Amino acid sequence: MTPPNPTPQARARAEAQALFLLEEGYPVLLRGPQEAGLQRLALRIARQLPPVLSRAEIEKTWRRVGMPAPELPIRRPHYTVSRGGMLGTSRLPGELDLARGGVLILADAPEFSNLEEILERASDVYVLGTAYDCPCDYAPDGECACTPEELRAYEEAVEGLFEVVEVE
Ligand SMILES: [Zn+2]
Repeated sequence: MTPPNPTPQARARAEAQALFLLEEGYPVLLRGPQEAGLQRLALRIARQLPPVLSRAEIEKTWRRVGMPAPELPIRRPHYTVSRGGMLGTSRLPGELDLARGGVLILADAPEFSNLEEILERASDVYVLGTAYDCPCDYAPDGECACTPEELRAYEEAVEGLFEVVEVE
């Protein structure tokens, strides 16, 4: 049994709520089922946000990697990214640095091993995570196959770190 897709109204509501919270400075977690299209929604939301830093400040970071600075940085590192790759090293900026002034999208946020540290260091950047309702995402037969322990760990990984916006 497949749950119904989120209606356009539900998606618009989630989008407005997320934009409001992000502009207020909160890290936001979009939560919903696979068919909610969370990644697409996150990108759509990210593109509507105003830069948090001046053009000159964004360019300063990007000069260090020798790349032209985007109008609004949007970074989507995979959760397997190394700690240095995410937080930067003395020599190179990490994904978090490159996202500054813009948006850091954390797809499958509960899977990031150092989520708390990332959020502690996230300044001058919007943080927008996504998470499915549960780690198995009702695969393969539409029934949740997660153990209570798995569900608890998945919840605890993001607990207290984000403002949660349900996409249903
Ligand atoms: Zn499950």
